[in-house]
Amino acid sequence: MSIKETIDKKIEKLYSDNVELLTKIGELLEPELTNIVDLFYSELMEIPQMASILKNAIVEKNLKESQKKWIHDFFKPHNRKDVNMLTERQKKIGKLHANININLNYFTYGISIMKSEIFSRIYKAELSRDELFQVFSVVDQLFDILVSIISEAYFSNEMVHETNELSLKMKGMSQNTAIECERLRSLLLDWVRNSLTFLYQTSQIDINTIPKLKESSFGLWVIYKADLLSHTMDISSELKNHIRQIDESFLTAAKYRIENNQTEFFEKIQNLNEAVSKASWYISTIVDQVIEMDSGMDSLTRLFNRRYIDTILRRQTEISMKQGLPYSILMLDIDHFKLVNDTYGHDSGDAVLKQFSELLLLSVRTSDFIFRYGGEEFLIVLGSAEKKEALVVAEKIRRKCEEHTFKLPGNKNLYKTCSIGVASYSGHPDYNRLIKEADLALYAAKEKGRNRVISES
Ligand code: GH3
Ligand code: MG
Ligand code: MG
Repeated sequence: MSIKETIDKKIEKLYSDNVELLTKIGELLEPELTNIVDLFYSELMEIPQMASILKNAIVEKNLKESQKKWIHDFFKPHNRKDVNMLTERQKKIGKLHANININLNYFTYGISIMKSEIFSRIYKAELSRDELFQVFSVVDQLFDILVSIISEAYFSNEMVHETNELSLKMKGMSQNTAIECERLRSLLLDWVRNSLTFLYQTSQIDINTIPKLKESSFGLWVIYKADLLSHTMDISSELKNHIRQIDESFLTAAKYRIENNQTEFFEKIQNLNEAVSKASWYISTIVDQVIEMDSGMDSLTRLFNRRYIDTILRRQTEISMKQGLPYSILMLDIDHFKLVNDTYGHDSGDAVLKQFSELLLLSVRTSDFIFRYGGEEFLIVLGSAEKKEALVVAEKIRRKCEEHTFKLPGNKNLYKTCSIGVASYSGHPDYNRLIKEADLALYAAKEKGRNRVISES
């Protein structure tokens, strides 16, 4: 007998031997469910790391609802078929917690709160000593078994994430790395040039409007991609240090300029220049490392392979929760693509896919991620973009595609359109919802006649 069968049998026996008792407790707890989950929620809110995730209203509602259902189901009698569903559901819970990167310690702490709340209520029920002992023992065993199923699913999912993140690091993730490197360096230099012009030419400088490198496209790239790309953490943390130094020097320089203190002002500008050339050097180091290990991309389009989507969205959600930044995703699909293959052959189809990918690369920020999601479907992750901004980017892509002359082998020209679904992070830690939402929106865009951008809400 496999371990799964053994466990299922055990659960089944615990239920079938105690049907009446468990049903009785279930009925007793039913009116208390709201109280129990409220207490559970407020205790978890005491943990700062959990509070940052739980404070979102949607999360609160969903968590409380699913917690109530969990307790309700726990005390429902289970026959063989039910037991299978019950264990499958625990696995899903484990995977979900791994996906949203909830530390398992917090999770088991949450379970212990719930257990003690339930026990204290059972204690007050009018049961004989024997019955009381019996209930405690059964409930305790069931809790342990279910939690162990959850933990196992949690860790097996965690392993997948770690392996993917590792291979993402090892294989590097250069989306046209050489171009990216040049773009990044020119972003940095542009930022410096514009900021210095601002400093020299603004007569009344308002300290609150001083530009910050951290918030520029360059800064966002560092937040989202530097860690993943650099093979030693030192380099990306040095890079972050230099960004901080640049912002600091710039702010101080502005203050000296307001005070008309020329000597100190020029000294700060000198510091700023040094920090900028160092940052630029770090960028080329990171990118050089990546070029060396360049592989693991989709071979036709040179975009990210879809197997990294989970890893990236998990990180993106984590960054958003910690730093309070929004993000959005676009799901894109080329319209009537099959026709290209059918009319002009697969080589032409491939040529369109390549050119479409290039068009995407040139339409988003360097800190964004583009995946080949399926044949002629693509997924874009827009960091730091709210729904409104994401809609603008999507519309820009839609229009560019419509206007683009796709070059086919044999000097033929072709015009194609694409449909796009948009969804934005709402504070909910489960990013799979976002993919579903974008998918539905894409489907709606197709239904409404294609060549359009739709967002569900
Ligand atoms: P819709 O507007 O509804 O999206 O219609 P469609 O024709 O674009 O969609 P459908 O899903 O029916 O067809 C997608 C086609 O894409 C089918 C498949 O043969 C083709 N395809 C998938 N991957 C590749 C590829 O790598 N190269 C080429 N040339 N074709 C591909
Ligand atoms: Mg299509
Ligand atoms: Mg398709």
